[in-house]
Amino acid sequence: MTSPFPVSENVSRMQPSSTLAAMQAAQALRAAGADVVDFGAGEPDFDTPENIKRAAAEAMRAGQTKYTSTGGTRELQEAIINFYQNQFGTRYEPAEVMATSGGKQAIFNAVVTLVNPDDEVLIPKPYWVTFPEIVVFAGGKPIFIETEDTDFLLTADQVAGAITPRTKLLILNSPSNPSGRVLPPAEFKHILELTADRGIYVISDECYLRFVYPPAEVFSAATLPAELRSRLCIAGSFSKTYAMTGWRMGYALGPVPWIKAMLKVQSHSTSNPNSIAQRAAVEAFNGPQDSVVIMLAEYTSRRAWLLKALREIPGITCTEPEGAFYAFPNVRGCLKKGVTSSDEFAQKLLEEEQTVVTDGAGFGAEGYVRMSYATSMAQLEEGVKRIKRFAERLV
Ligand code: PMP
Repeated sequence: MTSPFPVSENVSRMQPSSTLAAMQAAQALRAAGADVVDFGAGEPDFDTPENIKRAAAEAMRAGQTKYTSTGGTRELQEAIINFYQNQFGTRYEPAEVMATSGGKQAIFNAVVTLVNPDDEVLIPKPYWVTFPEIVVFAGGKPIFIETEDTDFLLTADQVAGAITPRTKLLILNSPSNPSGRVLPPAEFKHILELTADRGIYVISDECYLRFVYPPAEVFSAATLPAELRSRLCIAGSFSKTYAMTGWRMGYALGPVPWIKAMLKVQSHSTSNPNSIAQRAAVEAFNGPQDSVVIMLAEYTSRRAWLLKALREIPGITCTEPEGAFYAFPNVRGCLKKGVTSSDEFAQKLLEEEQTVVTDGAGFGAEGYVRMSYATSMAQLEEGVKRIKRFAERLV
């Protein structure tokens, strides 16, 4: 008998991804020939724009196939700096910017360079599943902040109520995955005033930065006054805006000492982001933006349709998501006839109607399910029809 593999304590503490579990269940059904409607995927259904693909092909031909600086090429750093300058009028210096292999690596770097064992890290609910797992990996303690009373919009008062002498870091994510809620800029500012005052660091995950539907406004923490940004790290991503999830390109903007520590971690893990994808990311920021406009227009109309259709289903209520590409309906009104939790709701919906939604409990919001509308109108219509049929059997 071989002894069990001695998984490290750091990794033993981590939970596998609950969003992945839903994906696997759907794949198994599909492999068995079922006609599955999938609202689970957290990625655009669009292809990467042609100009971006061409830039990558040119980079390969031109020999941009070697290691680059750990934090990315100067060209890419300049593209990121110029983007923030043009969009938000904020000037970052090259030493405050690094490119990463996806926004996820930026967040990972930012957490592990700051958090010590037993440090408390504030994570508002509902949260992206990765946040607590990275904190736990670093030995920190996730402290969750309830926000259901304010319809999942975090307030400075809620943050104040969760701060203790051990609080080291707050992780913000607006627009939010999974709720789609967008923090109003004034409240964002109040929160950063509070954390600056109490010496608490902040990571602002702005992965869905451009996915905001009027009248809500695109807002980056980069626009806050410099004194509110001295403990702030922004994590950004090319994945969603440019339909580039597979390219693995993201970035971090932050104070020089934090970025320097993050570069040290990255230099000993992935060395640098993929050199070819870096050229693609330069084109994404510097090139024409019409494909982003087209994708946003499509998400806008899907969102309007989905919200209206969901609100017509008995037992389901849904707050308007102002950003990202998720609806986060409350299904508590459907928890009847043997279906007692949102997990069971998601499981039975998959079994009986071959439709995938993600249980909100994995995001810290039991009673809710997440539905991605980064899928075609035809799939949306068919899926909602099935959910309605399912809900009508319950209520
Ligand atoms: N933050 C949030 C809230 C996300 O939903 C995702 C992707 N699902 C990421 C960060 C990371 O994206 P990527 O690593 O592809 O840039």
